[in-house]
Amino acid sequence: MWFKKSVRDTLEELGVDASTGLSDAEAEARLKQYGPNKLQGKKRKTILQMFIAQLNDALIFVLFGAVLITIFMGEYIDSVIILLVICINAVLGVIQEVKAGNAIEALRNLSTPKSLVKRGGETKEVESEKVVQGDILILDAGRFVAADLRLIESANLQIDESALTGESVPANKDSDQVLEGDHVPLGDRVNLAFMSTLVTYGRGAGVVVGTGMKTEVGKIADVLDDEEMKTPLEIRLNQLGKTLGIIAICICVFIFIVAMFQGRDLTEMLLTAVSLAVASIPEGLAAIVAVVLSIGVTIMAKKNAIIKKLPAVETLGSVNIVCSDKTGTLTQNKMTVTHYYNLSEGEVSVDEKEKTDATEAELLAKAMILCSDATYENGKGTGDPTEIALLHFGDDLGIDRKSLMRKNRRVGELAFESDRKLMSTLEDDNGRLRVFTKGAIDNLIAKCTQVREGGNIVPLSDEHRKKYGQATEDLSARALRTLAAAYKPVDAVIDQNEMEKDLILIGMVGMIDPPREEVKTSIEKASQAGITTIMITGDHKNTAFAIASDLGIAQSLDQTITGDEIHKHSEEELSNNISKYRVFARVSPEHKVRIVRAFKTTGNVVSMTGDGVNDAPSLQAADIGVAMGVTGTDVAKNAADMILTDDNFATIIAAIEQGRNIYNNIKKSVIFLLASNMGEVVVMVVCILLGLPTPLIATQLLWINLLTDTLPAVALGMDPGDPDVMTLKPRNPKEGFFSDRAGVQVIVGGVLIGLLTAFAFWYGYYTNGYSPRDNDVPKEVTEYARTMAFMTIIACQLFYSMSFRNNVKSIFQVGIFSNLYLIGAIVLGFALQLFVLGVPFMRDAFKLQELSLKGWGNVIALGLVPLLVNEIAKIFIRASQRRKGT
Ligand code: ADP
Ligand code: MG
Repeated sequence: MWFKKSVRDTLEELGVDASTGLSDAEAEARLKQYGPNKLQGKKRKTILQMFIAQLNDALIFVLFGAVLITIFMGEYIDSVIILLVICINAVLGVIQEVKAGNAIEALRNLSTPKSLVKRGGETKEVESEKVVQGDILILDAGRFVAADLRLIESANLQIDESALTGESVPANKDSDQVLEGDHVPLGDRVNLAFMSTLVTYGRGAGVVVGTGMKTEVGKIADVLDDEEMKTPLEIRLNQLGKTLGIIAICICVFIFIVAMFQGRDLTEMLLTAVSLAVASIPEGLAAIVAVVLSIGVTIMAKKNAIIKKLPAVETLGSVNIVCSDKTGTLTQNKMTVTHYYNLSEGEVSVDEKEKTDATEAELLAKAMILCSDATYENGKGTGDPTEIALLHFGDDLGIDRKSLMRKNRRVGELAFESDRKLMSTLEDDNGRLRVFTKGAIDNLIAKCTQVREGGNIVPLSDEHRKKYGQATEDLSARALRTLAAAYKPVDAVIDQNEMEKDLILIGMVGMIDPPREEVKTSIEKASQAGITTIMITGDHKNTAFAIASDLGIAQSLDQTITGDEIHKHSEEELSNNISKYRVFARVSPEHKVRIVRAFKTTGNVVSMTGDGVNDAPSLQAADIGVAMGVTGTDVAKNAADMILTDDNFATIIAAIEQGRNIYNNIKKSVIFLLASNMGEVVVMVVCILLGLPTPLIATQLLWINLLTDTLPAVALGMDPGDPDVMTLKPRNPKEGFFSDRAGVQVIVGGVLIGLLTAFAFWYGYYTNGYSPRDNDVPKEVTEYARTMAFMTIIACQLFYSMSFRNNVKSIFQVGIFSNLYLIGAIVLGFALQLFVLGVPFMRDAFKLQELSLKGWGNVIALGLVPLLVNEIAKIFIRASQRRKGT
């Protein structure tokens, strides 16, 4: 019933002083006592549950059936091997699941909102989980409320409580009210703010009255379901896996039926057919994708790009338009006022200010300082960099900011909004009331009726407007960001709507914000990769163009367009002309949505950056919404697919590169897996149709599946990526997964592997002086032939894996040792083969025979063939590419 208590009583009861907040030690102690401020989510599965889930699979049931058959047949060693295979498969599955899960969880933790808390007299950012009862929380627009609060301060505070009450209109809050009665509905508790709601406007502060599950949202949401996210590719591959699985089962049934007519040993054939089904069903597809994705996003997070929605990774590879905010993303957001302008002095460089009489300049600086929320002390500032620059400007002019702030008391304000591009405050200087407004000159001058000139206040004439227009041109042509200030005296505290009217223009400042150094190379790199960079800014057209041309984004002024001009275009006109423009200046958040749509309707894949409260719609409209990690609001981050922890444009381009690599790696793994499985099916089908003995027995098939479906496939997924990916065009999002020779590689590779293995099988008989069709072949000879087949198919698969690293470049151009995981997987694969073949116990278990040196030579020679064939094909592809190129 906190809404019935006054602010004072509440603070007293919670034992906190509103001006200093809790001490760090006290907060720590309370955190220990009451636990972290978080809602209990769904419990994570235990390892055992995951293990059991892995076993709960139709395929595994089939294998268990196979175990029963082997026990029935008295082939106990086979039973043990199949059981082992089941276990190893399940363990690998669990490892993959845990690894992927951990990576995703780590990402989620990286992007959880933080809170502004007053502790020990200082305002600082802490993780929202560490907020405790009694903490003083500062609220500003765009921030999620981290706990339930009794408000102690509110300035035009509006909170979107739809998550809790379903009410879509933001609620007006008032800390001064004390409510009566016991049954005040949540939506009417105007002096409280609730966890998980969102500040949409204004400022405020509150003391935490409830955390974690003791909050209002905690009461209604015992279990917070965060749905699992599958990417479109995962879904497609799952589908593909199912289709291929059905085909595989059909083939196995077919083989079994053929074998029946051929009069083979049916129990053995049943076992073989089942094992072939298990080996050829690509059940690992989705798991591989999940692992490769999670490895990829972990690397991206280390490079400052946090992926919030997994499907974004795939989309990144197709992006061909990157829309970027100017301030802070393309530029450093380290602003310095270098010039100012007023009608009395004209344009003055801050370095030469001593030369002029500074009373007008002083008024300008004071207006700017009083109309700011930032702080700046001992070289350290908090808040909007634009405003920090203004405070610094005041220091440069020798203004005593402390006494200025002490004399003036803020009694009203109208916050900055990027739509209005203005901000106003109402200051009480010992009974003298004045409104101060600062903002973009074009917007501000429209609200002015008078102007200061030579120490006097005169009516604003067209002549004055022209002078200001010229001064703006001059400053912005030098890439300076301009900001003007005005004021007016008033008799009483006036309403917000009355503030920005009949103002007296004082002057304006120009500030530099140098471009980030690495951005220019990134833009070049992007353009080579077929990606166009678009600048979007609230700044003046000339300022924007000056920086854009410096960075190589735009070459001529007609590539720029302003928000006003966009306004005049219809949806259709804008789409038709959008490709002309590179710079969008003086835009508001609503324009950003239109820009995204216009680019998208013309067939582009668009990424858009944003940070503000109103940016969420454009981030959602874009294919890839990118939020700023440092300056971004919680709303923007929540709506985004990706968060930049360094706000840097270069990070977007690096993420796109990474996205392309991840997609390629997934493709490599999947194609390899399918080609390998295809090889297994082909050799079995061919030999059985020819009426030969089965070339591989059940346990051998399972072993092959275990060896090649895991190590090399995952190693391919961890490929370092082609250094030249950013010289290629973006991937067409409509392009199928099997385009670009991938389908051919599966079929040709699979058939080749199958035929080579069949040949090795025949050759095994031949070297012993028999034919597979003979009736009186000793058991050892058949086992020897199977050994040849067994070794050859694995050698083929292991060697062939190297070829998938690049579609065009030879394995030497790619560098044989540039993916040590793959080399490791191949070496380990052969070592395991040596192990099963060399250890008598294993050899007997798998029904193998020792291989002679010559046998080994044959295996290696046959094993290299698929790799060689593919490498030779690549030579022709390179040659034809060169011909096309010249
Ligand atoms: P961007 O982030 O693209 O630079 P903004 O929306 O921040 O665009 O700024 C647009 C214009 O609004 C600026 O050119 C400036 O004139 C004005 N402006 C920016 N910040 C403030 C502020 N804190 N107070 C008043 N006006 C501002
Ligand atoms: Mg800005």
